Amino acid sequence: MTYQKTDRSKESARARVEGWTPRTKLGKMVLGGQISSIEEIFMDGLKISEPEIVDVLLPDIQEEVINIGLVQKQTDAGEKSRFKAIVAVGTEGGYIGLGSGKAKQVRNAIEKGAMDARLNITLVRRGCGSWECGCGKNHSLPFQISGKCGGVKIVLIPGPRGLGLVANEEAKILLRLAGVKDIWTKSFGSTRTIPSFACAVFDALKRTYSLVTQAEWVK
Ligand SMILES: [Zn+2]
Repeated sequence: MTYQKTDRSKESARARVEGWTPRTKLGKMVLGGQISSIEEIFMDGLKISEPEIVDVLLPDIQEEVINIGLVQKQTDAGEKSRFKAIVAVGTEGGYIGLGSGKAKQVRNAIEKGAMDARLNITLVRRGCGSWECGCGKNHSLPFQISGKCGGVKIVLIPGPRGLGLVANEEAKILLRLAGVKDIWTKSFGSTRTIPSFACAVFDALKRTYSLVTQAEWVK
């Protein structure tokens, strides 16, 4: 089963914003126009707790389903099964989010996952960390970085311009949505567990901003 990115996602984002009554101070400031860029939110270290904030500030955001799984739970009434969707959102320009949602219907699980991904949106530091390239443009990552989740570890290694994404399908979705074009990947552990694998890639991308490079220490 493959799930394509739909044009519906933009329409539903518009509808969400139109019917939105912010519950948080941050939401009110975004809707009122006092905050007009998502960078301000990250700089101040504020927490996004309404997905509409992302819809307003990043109108070009795209959604893509990474995985749909079936979750079975034993209850008093018998066995209950629900779908679990892993969804990524991004702008192809340095923003990436990953989330999950569970529901009885696939469509609702995807919707929940897409909202959760918006709440987890993060900035990715891009650059040209390839010694073979040195072009200085934002086509890759500025350095090699690793991420971990569950039993999976992934290493993202900057590659020269034109290399493309040397990665499996799930990693490719995340890297493309983040705006990273040329990368080698190495993975370890139970890499076939797609939710853990996607979460490890997301962890690595997230860490590009928490890692302070040596050059910055001396600045
Ligand atoms: Zn380069």
